[in-house]
Amino acid sequence: MYRSMMLINGKRVGGASGRFDVIHNPANQEPVAEVAIGEVIDAVKALEAAQCAFPGWASVSPKRRCDLLHDAAEIVRERADRIAELLTVEMGKAIRDSRREVLSAADSLDYFAEEGLRNIGDWISTAETRSIVTKQPVGVISLITPWNYPVELLAWKAGPAIAAGCTAVAKPSSLAPVAATEFVMAINDAGLPPGVLNIVHGSGETVGAELVTNPISRKISFTGETSTGRWIMEAAARHLKRVSLELGGHAPMIVFDDADIDAAASACVRRAFGNMGQVCISVNRVYVADEIAEDFTEKVVRRTLGLRIGDPLDPEVDLGPMVSEAQRRKTREHIEDAVQKGANILCGGRAPEGDLFAKGYYFLPTVLADVDHRMRIMREETFGPVAPIMQFSDDEEAVRLANDTEYGLAAYIYTNSLRRAIRTAERLEAGSVGVNVGSIIDHHAPFGGWKQSGIGRELSHRGLDEYMEIKHIRLGL
Ligand code: NDP
Repeated sequence: MYRSMMLINGKRVGGASGRFDVIHNPANQEPVAEVAIGEVIDAVKALEAAQCAFPGWASVSPKRRCDLLHDAAEIVRERADRIAELLTVEMGKAIRDSRREVLSAADSLDYFAEEGLRNIGDWISTAETRSIVTKQPVGVISLITPWNYPVELLAWKAGPAIAAGCTAVAKPSSLAPVAATEFVMAINDAGLPPGVLNIVHGSGETVGAELVTNPISRKISFTGETSTGRWIMEAAARHLKRVSLELGGHAPMIVFDDADIDAAASACVRRAFGNMGQVCISVNRVYVADEIAEDFTEKVVRRTLGLRIGDPLDPEVDLGPMVSEAQRRKTREHIEDAVQKGANILCGGRAPEGDLFAKGYYFLPTVLADVDHRMRIMREETFGPVAPIMQFSDDEEAVRLANDTEYGLAAYIYTNSLRRAIRTAERLEAGSVGVNVGSIIDHHAPFGGWKQSGIGRELSHRGLDEYMEIKHIRLGL
């Protein structure tokens, strides 16, 4: 069985406990990997290694850091098949999507390699003074990530941290630590000095909490649930640490009566069910204009029934299992609550039948009609494959319903009117709005949440700035 070690100060190590945990494949419950269990002492060692490495790494030239990140991206690409396979067997993502995730993570490293070269400051002149405004790395960073995109979300943090001249300790989710660890090993194999990027395993409550509270780390970059993010922000306040928090979402999709219905229906299916809906920017609520509701809904159901569900290692498969029984249970509970309150299941609503599905956490992608905002599914993050469709009669109502949430990560609009697109996008309370597109992720553009969806931005030059302190040097002439 595959063994996943931690990486501390450039060395592959087991934890101080010497114990290993076994990760099981959510598709069939087979054991897939043994993972070294980390404890608080391992987190402390990793933080100390990052602290030792920081002065050296901070003074390496940006060009050298750029070259190393490009080399790391190449190694990740060479190992993409292997990392993708580990990702699929540990958390159930369809292999095509796992491969896409790993390759996109490599692209992020390339992006931040170049962005790190553009550390541009200011020079301000007065009669008797000159002010130099420059940016310097923050220091040691704790990178804490969830299980749903364990490689890509780590790349969004490790890439800019390394490019900025910071050093870091990563802690992946204990549900899916293996591919993330391979990714970190690949980056290190590019020749990163020991201690620049470390990875420790272990639970959030012990190892994660140490990475948050230990004064060695100067910033916490976290992606995960809103409740965990709130705790981290409170704990970080004790040392006035900087935080970047990418938290939960509950994205609306508004389909106006002038939309391209086919394009909207296929984006809806892709965005609601991809990765079994276990995505922070999944479409969680669909609002469709009365005039086109029947046509749109029929197209969504037809496309949903065409999705191929099965062994996620099969390259022909669109959807594998969910990550755990807990996620599947929550999905069922949200559907049951909606049905009790008057929703109708148009397709799905249960686990698929047959031997192939007997041991896995499979669930059929589900379309619901006749939903309203009393239902949990319209208010709470399900993190499962459900598309609830609700009708609206005018633009005002659509915007009001879309904004009726505590979250504000992403939103989607389908319309052929430029005026409507701009007016609506400006009124939606979300960090990213997609207009006639099913994805809002672009390495060049900032990503992050409003309201309970977080603080700070990832990707783009703003994502790099999160790892920099600004310094003003004033020169008297
Ligand atoms: P969690 O918040 O449960 O866990 C995320 C990470 O935090 C894990 O590594 C976890 O460790 C760790 N952790 C848990 N408790 C603590 C703590 N007290 N101190 C430090 N670290 C801790 O989220 P999930 O893994 O369940 O991920 C799903 C969530 O992530 C969803 O809400 C989703 O919306 C959100 N998400 C947000 C994204 C965004 O960009 N806004 C993107 C993707 C997901 P462990 O689990 O090992 O105990």
